[in-house]
Amino acid sequence: MTEQDGAFRTEGLTKTYGSGPTAVHAVSDVSLAIGQGQLVLIMGPSGSGKTTLLSMLGGLLKPTSGRIFLDDLEITSLNEGQLPKVRAQRIGFIFQAFNLLSSLSAEENILFPASLVKQPRPAETGQRAQRLMERLGIRQRARHLPRDLSGGEKQRVAIARALINNPDIILADEPTGNLDTRSGHEVMMILYDLVKDEGKTVVIVTHNQVLADMADRVLWIEDGRVRDRKDEMHSWTNDPVCGMQIDQWTATFFRSHEGKRYVFCSKRCQERFDAEPARYASLGSIQGNIRPA
Ligand code: ADP
Ligand code: MG
Repeated sequence: MTEQDGAFRTEGLTKTYGSGPTAVHAVSDVSLAIGQGQLVLIMGPSGSGKTTLLSMLGGLLKPTSGRIFLDDLEITSLNEGQLPKVRAQRIGFIFQAFNLLSSLSAEENILFPASLVKQPRPAETGQRAQRLMERLGIRQRARHLPRDLSGGEKQRVAIARALINNPDIILADEPTGNLDTRSGHEVMMILYDLVKDEGKTVVIVTHNQVLADMADRVLWIEDGRVRDRKDEMHSWTNDPVCGMQIDQWTATFFRSHEGKRYVFCSKRCQERFDAEPARYASLGSIQGNIRPA
């Protein structure tokens, strides 16, 4: 299977919010290919452009410039009438905040995207929803409203909803961000199974390390620019304050303390370190392996 088989290719993908002196260059000139059946993680500090990139890949957000291909179809050339149909059939979305409709039951939420595409056999869709709920362990929750579900259950409903139209691509934006460790782990493993067992293409924006070793690619995004980090895992280290894994080679926030070097995901973590270095110093300095000057 080559990277030309399915999934995404972007050329010079760029998103700028606003214009003039206040313009924010959220994603800058990103050209990448994601092969069919790949598990790809997108990681990077808060505000680095992850959501913007994922939203453009999924056709939810129009790029300022650049092109996106889904197989041979250039989705950036589709109009407002054509795009929603492609999206509904080919792409399932999972969000950090679940985005369930609060007045619909779990089962109704799951079935909702099916109403957006022409269903040749509605009965089959109902059966498919049953099978998905069974598989995700939420069958007993079918008639519950979102407010009566736990976080982990809500995200399982959202995953079933993402799968109801049997898309070949799943895009997930921090799907474990609102979950406890155990539920988060389970959600990540469900996403992994979609790649392993069903050959789906799954792209996950996440800070969660559970799948880092299993992923085909780990893309690191910083200031809107993407780099492939899977081959260079040795340069990862942890922010001693928040624990987030960051790339010491490109980190922009760092400190030396008692002869050791520390890197941070953000100014905020750096400032917390500065305020109480003794508290954090034991938790994550760079030992050796420092970028040569
Ligand atoms: P991430 O998901 O990595 O946290 P985002 O893609 O949400 O990053 O944001 C990237 C940058 O673009 C940030 O500086 C953010 O403030 C800015 N941004 C995001 N959405 C908008 C918007 N709708 N209008 C203006 N700026 C935005
Ligand atoms: Mg985001």
